Amino acid sequence: MKAAPKKDLYRKLPSVDELLHQPEVAALVESEGRANVTEAARQVLETLRQEIASGSLDASAVELAVGGLASAVERRVRQSLAPSLCPVINATGVILHTNLGRAPLAEAALERIREVAGVYSNLEFDIASGERGKRDVHVERLTARLLNQEGLTGIATVVVNNNAAAVLLSLNTLAEGGEVIVSRGELVEIGGSFRIPDVMAKSGAVLREVGTTNRTRLADYEKAINERTRLLLRVHRSNFQIVGFTEQPPLEDLVALARKHKLRILEDLGSGAMIELRSVGVSGEPSVWDSLRAGVDVVTYSGDKLLGGPQAGLISGQSETVARIRANPLFRALRVDKLTYAALEATLLAYARQDHNAIPAVRMMRLSAQEIGRRAQALADILLAKAPRLEVEMVGGASVIGGGAAPGAALPTILLALTCQDLSADELAARLRAHQPPIVARVEQGKVLLDLRTVFPEQDAIIAAAVLHAACQ
Ligand SMILES: *Cc1c(COP(=O)(O)O)cnc(C)c1O
Repeated sequence: MKAAPKKDLYRKLPSVDELLHQPEVAALVESEGRANVTEAARQVLETLRQEIASGSLDASAVELAVGGLASAVERRVRQSLAPSLCPVINATGVILHTNLGRAPLAEAALERIREVAGVYSNLEFDIASGERGKRDVHVERLTARLLNQEGLTGIATVVVNNNAAAVLLSLNTLAEGGEVIVSRGELVEIGGSFRIPDVMAKSGAVLREVGTTNRTRLADYEKAINERTRLLLRVHRSNFQIVGFTEQPPLEDLVALARKHKLRILEDLGSGAMIELRSVGVSGEPSVWDSLRAGVDVVTYSGDKLLGGPQAGLISGQSETVARIRANPLFRALRVDKLTYAALEATLLAYARQDHNAIPAVRMMRLSAQEIGRRAQALADILLAKAPRLEVEMVGGASVIGGGAAPGAALPTILLALTCQDLSADELAARLRAHQPPIVARVEQGKVLLDLRTVFPEQDAIIAAAVLHAACQ
């Protein structure tokens, strides 16, 4: 049989206008807007034209496609109007996974956002006097109280967009035009784009590096101090460790040196732990109060790392120094909105009430391997009963804190290791990501590893169904 000439095939296609007048498409125009539907109709017709051009469709295939044009347009409109930011299930065991949004918010934080953000609020309004207020008060009173409980008084806190902004603003306020002394062992890069030397340059301060990668002594700092020196900077090595032949002066000694020379000292903590981390088996990660107690003038830390709140950068320190930072015109460009204040206030309230389990990231850190093992066993039982092609093992492993925090900390966990007949681990993992909601797992040594530490218990059943579906397709 002779194939129909392509021009005959093209003739079977309606024009965009004709397509828009088909009843189902016209209804779509009503509900979703003419511009969205017109664009989708154009794209659908264009795809069909390309398929004809490539010779992959015969006359009957074109007729079939033309019959399905209305639903193809509807699918495309729905796709283009669906949100792109969507929930995923984190089965990696990395608690503060930067690519997956770091800390999931506490229930109370979500409620506060709902209550406060959909209506007007007293964000910058003093209700008693009826006059303009400051947005800072909403977080200030709680951080002051939490620090007070640790015996730290006279400490003020301001909030900016993230810790990178906190470092930039602090350096710019305290050291613009002068020199800042930092150890070569602390010139860190966090998450690709935050590099201490680059942030320093943008702050207008001059980086004065001292010591070596593995060893820096107090005397190295002292030798570098001159009349241009404005600040000593300590940067927490939050995403790597230096082991072996190493030396770093204790923070207290650095503070004493700064005092002796009438200089200020800033610590970029990265994570802002407000719990006793040793209690969950994490050591070497200083808390906000460890740092302030040592006498540091200002500390900066993230809201969405160990604190477990929204993305934010907190700057805590001596009130007079923090007031100067607050008065910097750059603050206006880096400040946060009511959503962040609402979520941060609720998160800090959970700390004030000692209700640590209300904060998902903290709760996940505190889960024991036994608890995780029990859930893993229940999931394994379902999978083994229903998916004969699947091999399921329970193996000991480690969850990590992630987010550039406590690089050396490994929290013992029980992993589910999956292998599926006729399916590579990468393919199985890809199928889990294609699930709705997507499930993100680790792949190691030819196995898909699921760590339930970072999975909310109510998501266990979703994982079971998704794995069964993926393995039985
Ligand atoms: C994470 C981190 C930063 C950057 O913080 P963001 O909140 O991601 O902007 C800066 N410094 C240190 C030491 C960090 O750990």
